[in-house]
Amino acid sequence: MTGILFDRITLIGIGLIGSSIARDIKALGLAGELVISTRSEATLKRAEELALGDRYETSAAEAVKGADLVIVSVPVGSSGMVAEQIAPSLKPGTILTDVGSTKASVIAQMAPHVPQGVHFIPGHPLAGTEKSGPDAGFAGLFKGRWCIFTPLPDTDAAALEKLKDFWIALGSRVDEMDPQHHDKVLAIVSHLPHIIAYNIVGTADDLETVTESEVIKYSASGFRDFTRLAASDPTMWRDVCL
Ligand code: NAP
Repeated sequence: MTGILFDRITLIGIGLIGSSIARDIKALGLAGELVISTRSEATLKRAEELALGDRYETSAAEAVKGADLVIVSVPVGSSGMVAEQIAPSLKPGTILTDVGSTKASVIAQMAPHVPQGVHFIPGHPLAGTEKSGPDAGFAGLFKGRWCIFTPLPDTDAAALEKLKDFWIALGSRVDEMDPQHHDKVLAIVSHLPHIIAYNIVGTADDLETVTESEVIKYSASGFRDFTRLAASDPTMWRDVCL
């Protein structure tokens, strides 16, 4: 147990990333209360069955009331809609962050909704797998991995330090970047490799009908490594590409 860093933490989105954060918060005792919110009843029920939090809400606006830290872990194309929903319920002094794989577009979507006095600090943990949903998460996912923050020009230094302390408690190494620079770096190390993998595996799938089973039969070489990337969640990657 590391000890309480925030009295109340709210997680919006409880898939691979959100549920991994939840498991670490619980294991390390980082929150006085952990509130979990996701849009569907089915995913929320599963989160409750897995005992990922202390309280469960389908309403994101209800879930963030009184929270000291709010972490948004939804596909990047939905981050603006979530920010709009929760904005009126955020209290002054709350730290609002996200985990989205792109940063400039998330800032453009979320920042206009953030009320005065709320510390919006965009973030991106460079950790994950090709799986999704609350069952896919696990404690320790972020250990030894980078978490990059792309603070805004007026970001409060004390709030940023507190958020860094949180990710350091999860075992992450922390860094800061300009949002556009982040997107350029991540495009080459993560986003383009995924696009290439989707294309190679898609082409092989088309080709397989021509050469019958040969593509599958001889696929144990370099091709196999592409299949893991190409098994990633299509909604998440559609949003990253857009
Ligand atoms: P995930 O396992 O598919 O979980 C997505 C979560 O977002 C679920 O709780 C889902 O809710 C919710 N959601 C989906 N569509 C939504 C919408 N339109 N509006 C509101 N909520 C919605 O995804 P993930 O892998 O955790 O990814 C979450 C974020 O982390 C993404 O922004 C991604 O770019 C980023 N990220 C992912 C990885 C990775 O390797 N996967 C790594 C670093 C960062 P329901 O199930 O209730 O529909």
